[in-house]
Amino acid sequence: MADSGDSKGAASESAVAESDAMDCPSLEGSDDSDWEECDDDESGASVLCLFCKEELVSAEDVFQHCKTEHQFDVQKFVIKNNFDMYGYIKFINYIRSKKPPPTSISESPPGTEAPWGSDQYLQPVLQDDPLLFYDVEEWTNQAPVTMETEESDITLPVQQYRALLERLHQAEARSEVTEGQLHDALKDIDRLRQTAKTFILSDQSKDQHALQPSHGAVAQLREDEDAAYFSSYSHFSIHMDMLQDKVRTESYRDFIMTNQHLFKDKVVLDVGCGTGILSMFAARAGASQVIAVDQSEIIYKAMDIVRENNLDHVIKLIKGRVEDIQLPVEKVDVIISEWMGYFLLFESMLDTVLYARDRWLAPGGSVYPDRCTISLVAIGDTKMHSNRVAFWDDVYGFKMTCMRSDVTKEGSVEEIDPETVMSEPSLIRMVDCCSVSVAELDFTADFSLKATRDGTCTGIGGYFDIVFEKDCTNKVYFSTAPNCMKTHWKQTLFLLEKPVDMKQGDLMSGKISVKKNKKDPRALVVRIEITNTGQVLDFQLQ
Ligand code: SAH
Repeated sequence: MADSGDSKGAASESAVAESDAMDCPSLEGSDDSDWEECDDDESGASVLCLFCKEELVSAEDVFQHCKTEHQFDVQKFVIKNNFDMYGYIKFINYIRSKKPPPTSISESPPGTEAPWGSDQYLQPVLQDDPLLFYDVEEWTNQAPVTMETEESDITLPVQQYRALLERLHQAEARSEVTEGQLHDALKDIDRLRQTAKTFILSDQSKDQHALQPSHGAVAQLREDEDAAYFSSYSHFSIHMDMLQDKVRTESYRDFIMTNQHLFKDKVVLDVGCGTGILSMFAARAGASQVIAVDQSEIIYKAMDIVRENNLDHVIKLIKGRVEDIQLPVEKVDVIISEWMGYFLLFESMLDTVLYARDRWLAPGGSVYPDRCTISLVAIGDTKMHSNRVAFWDDVYGFKMTCMRSDVTKEGSVEEIDPETVMSEPSLIRMVDCCSVSVAELDFTADFSLKATRDGTCTGIGGYFDIVFEKDCTNKVYFSTAPNCMKTHWKQTLFLLEKPVDMKQGDLMSGKISVKKNKKDPRALVVRIEITNTGQVLDFQLQ
């Protein structure tokens, strides 16, 4: 059967089996065994019947015998089923192996696989079975095909029948493709419907936000709405930036390690543990148990880090949103967290710390850092202002003034050159983390900036200060002001649309309001009104 792929070869071999001596293997390159085989074939040609034990001389005799003795016309069946060589071989081997009674053999209904359809029946059941070498394609090529219809039988030339069959197969294939496309289209429609539903529902919930004060908005965020936020914390680089920010990390370390009495034998909750650095400081300072929570994937690294430092007997890590998890304890004595964002409140992670405080902090417990302030200073940097605002007045000879307002609508996070600071700071907000409520984090405050020199105020800079002081024997403080050591928070700059000339000692006063963005509670909207000039500026921080 190794040659079964070549039906012409198989046909000439069948001629050998049918005792044509001329087709015996040539003497050249053959040995005696070839001759013996050939002799055997010639002398005792025996072909076993398909349905009984009778042996006949040739394949034709077998077919005749099947027809007369078993009422099974192999030729008719082959033609009717339009067998090719493979189909025929499978059919013979199927009968030989399964031995079905001839009366039970029938055509299989269209679209179903015939019982002999499996490729396993390509394997000969009888060795050198002469029936397998019979060239049945001659039958199928020559014979007309009779098709039974409801009214009468139709007889077609086989070529026409084949062409019809081919067209039928093509039509079936086309219909399969179309069915697949229809199925995909229905799935698309379903997805669209789902998206529209989610869109409408989320829009309704945004409307509700509009009616309600925005406090608690972070806790209300759906997991999918906050996914990008947490995924931004899953990459190592953001944690490297934070850990390499010495002002930040050393302040936490110094606070914890020089105030160990606050941690000794205490249960500590680390809200948003990241790599676990604050938890490890707390464990080193003698905490009896540290529970470290983070929703970001970085917590899996924190698990390795904690084990690597043999602190897994003290630090228990929990993956999840603080707002969604259960703690293994009723209450904690201390909450530590590094939650500060740009301009202090960006990211609104303080909401999460306050949530944890209200849910788990034991009476008399503390949240660290405990005191934070936000301050403003006047900035005079006409060169930078004109590079960013006046720039649009003449761009390669074209006016692009419509772009100016976009520049002055966004608060920009950058390192402000301390040389450009031209006023005393004005503190606009003090936050006591042990007592402030989420609602109070949206606020409006007055400011008053006293010019320290003559100049043109081109913008207002914002920054924050952090203090660890409650019950501390060693208070720790750091500032993100322009004249202090740089931190990854830099400062936030709000550019004025119309710069204001000031003389030393002049006051620029006004009102600032800072609120969560209703559409994205992790972003902020800031409004600055400058009383002297009547300028009202709206900024997004996002
Ligand atoms: N404490 C670490 C990381 C601070 S960054 C350090 O000081 O280096 C803030 C971390 O808080 C991020 O890893 C962020 O994924 C996590 N976080 C923010 N909000 C959270 C919440 N609601 N639930 C759980 N983790 C949160």
